Amino acid sequence: MKSATMKFEPYWWDDAGEPTSPKEAPLPQDIDFVIVGAGLTGLSAARTLAKKGKAVLVLDAEAPGIGASSRNGGMIGGGHRMSIDDMEARFGKATALDLLTEAHLNATNFVKDLIAEEEIDCDFAETGRFRGLWHPSEYESSARGLERLQSLIPLEAEMVPKSRQRDEVNSDLYSGGIVFPRHGGLNPAKWVQGILNAAQRAGALVQGHTPVTSVQQADAGVVIDTPRGRVRAGEVLVATNGYTPSHLSTLKRRIVPIPSFIVVTEPLGENRIKDLLPGGRMVAESRERHCYYRASPDGTRLVFGGRAALFNAPESIAQSELRGLMTQIFPELKGVGFSHSWRGRTGFTFDFLPHVGKEDGVWHAMGYSGSGNAMAPYLGHKAALLMAGDRDGETAFTKTGFPNRWWHRGSPWFLPFADVVFRARDVWSNAGRSK
Ligand SMILES: Cc1cc2nc3c(=O)[nH]c(=O)nc-3n(C[C@H](O)[C@H](O)[C@H](O)COP(=O)(O)OP(=O)(O)OC[C@H]3O[C@@H](n4cnc5c(N)ncnc54)[C@H](O)[C@@H]3O)c2cc1C
Repeated sequence: MKSATMKFEPYWWDDAGEPTSPKEAPLPQDIDFVIVGAGLTGLSAARTLAKKGKAVLVLDAEAPGIGASSRNGGMIGGGHRMSIDDMEARFGKATALDLLTEAHLNATNFVKDLIAEEEIDCDFAETGRFRGLWHPSEYESSARGLERLQSLIPLEAEMVPKSRQRDEVNSDLYSGGIVFPRHGGLNPAKWVQGILNAAQRAGALVQGHTPVTSVQQADAGVVIDTPRGRVRAGEVLVATNGYTPSHLSTLKRRIVPIPSFIVVTEPLGENRIKDLLPGGRMVAESRERHCYYRASPDGTRLVFGGRAALFNAPESIAQSELRGLMTQIFPELKGVGFSHSWRGRTGFTFDFLPHVGKEDGVWHAMGYSGSGNAMAPYLGHKAALLMAGDRDGETAFTKTGFPNRWWHRGSPWFLPFADVVFRARDVWSNAGRSK
């Protein structure tokens, strides 16, 4: 059911305002650092460099923040999609431990400090997150996985058996879950705007509607072309994640831009939302559809996201898929209207890890695989320190390689086919639950 005044832009913009570009200023011809992409990654990198007294220019093709950063689900916390065994086998125990520590602890601590230090008003609340387990068999394996993780790093988390699940989510759909009490929620549009303001206060020059059309290595540094002229820089960081343009082909080949879709219900009232989410937590699922949902910051609506399709599906399909998933979890929401519906591009990698590094004279920080509210500002900061030659920039995310596949040449032609496989796996997985 569509509401009469449905908006096809992020709910977050109602409160934060639609992202807009800072006032146009002349572009410098020479500068120490240029950052391509003004989302959480690029703006955090700019803030760090500017705070170190470096001259830094951030360029975005559109308004700063208008990519995934202002249109995401607003859930913030740490974690990895790769198993500990896989990590240890691929990168060795020491690097695996560093990856776990950085993703689960350091990134979240960094962003909490950043919010406090810059006094960013972004409706941040440490609500905790409930991860709902899809298959009954996942409960025991997740409990063993969590025990192992907690033997390696001091992560606060606890298993919630199915018998206590309704304390968190008023649904029987899951087979229990895991609570991460230190995760939280925020308004992502205010979050990215807050980092933009902090970067500008520190002295960074941020310019929107200035697409970078080529980046080339030069004798000393790099040359960046834009429709507004050429800029020479000592170092350049590409921070375009799921929006990486074709001309940056080495990076584009390593990123799979998978869309994620979100709808928001009409106001349902605080009591009804509390009834759906008694724990007041952010919720994410372990199933392939990866539904994620939460209360709006004012506690009156349900914000519901998920992988409605792996390609840029028409609006009607996206909404009907999300409605089906939402009412599977909460049948009582059948017939509830949506006030907002939108989408954005996540940047997945072939190993589901983000990557930081420098190749052919160009730095990159990207590949958050759907979880960037903490990792993107954290790795943007790390990349900035590395670019400035600061040893504090050391991060395990430079040590994992940045895999590509011969069949991904840049354009994600394979996503509609992957969507068919993904749907078949979904059906199979649902059937497996009832066995
Ligand atoms: C619908 C959705 C829901 C999500 N939910 C969550 C969540 O709940 N929690 C979480 O942690 N993460 C979530 N994510 C992921 C998170 O939003 C991203 O990982 C994060 O925002 C990435 O930030 P970024 O700065 O690297 O990229 P982006 O914010 O995508 O910024 C990239 C920028 O590059 C610019 N650009 C592209 N080409 C050029 C060019 N040629 N020249 C200049 N600029 C260019 C774009 O205009 C864009 O502004 C979600 C993502 C989506 C799409």
